[in-house]
Amino acid sequence: MRTPVVMGNWKLNGTKSTVTELVKAFSTVANDAKNVDVAVCAPAVFIGMVESLATGSNLKWGSEDCDVHTQGAFTGENSPVMLKEFGCTYAIVGHSERRGYHNETNEVVAAKFKSALDNGLVPVLCIGESEAEYDAGKTLDVCKAEIKAVIDLCGIEAFNNAIIAYEPIWAIGTGKTATPEIAQNVHKGIREFLKTFSAEVADGVRILYGGSCNAKTAPELFSQPDIDGGLIGGASLKVADFTAIIEAAKANA
Ligand code: PEP
Repeated sequence: MRTPVVMGNWKLNGTKSTVTELVKAFSTVANDAKNVDVAVCAPAVFIGMVESLATGSNLKWGSEDCDVHTQGAFTGENSPVMLKEFGCTYAIVGHSERRGYHNETNEVVAAKFKSALDNGLVPVLCIGESEAEYDAGKTLDVCKAEIKAVIDLCGIEAFNNAIIAYEPIWAIGTGKTATPEIAQNVHKGIREFLKTFSAEVADGVRILYGGSCNAKTAPELFSQPDIDGGLIGGASLKVADFTAIIEAAKANA
């Protein structure tokens, strides 16, 4: 049985005041959701604040990215060692916004995944196809290539300590949630692909859905056999919405 995960991705949003409000609320909700892993991934500048506010609760936190290097002359980057020092459990890598706006290739994302894992963080590998790729029927080819780059660098066993987030790019921030059938088929295909390397790893790895997942769509998405929770953008900035999504995960735990 895989423990469901509900993870917020705040992206470039937040103020000291909203971060305080959200972390306080989500800490309480997480304390009441012992059978679900609840986390928020915050802009780096807020991670210390999240640590101060959430320590002692069941709420975990993470970063939205992670550098390949641990230290040195890499202006603007955040090292996995620093993130670990500030109590991060997770590091998102390969979000489509980073792949798109920062030209991160599959190989760069794999190196970030390795850097996070080697330094004690749980990488959350984001994968997913564009609308054109979806229309061309290439969804699984894209997802497999994104995963294969990580397997080539880190080995299949790396997924014993990692999470995959399937996030169709056409669904992110658009309000166009993938239907439960579409998402389940892709998640199943991803798990079957992982099975060709290791059945045990494939059975254990949590595969989250992300892309306009909200309080309305979460219950049916999370009831699918291969969907183990969600990576949540916009709705993780609203107490009522994120709380309802956690409730949906609890119902399927
Ligand atoms: C995301 O960016 O990871 C995401 C899932 O965003 P949204 O929920 O806003 O579509």
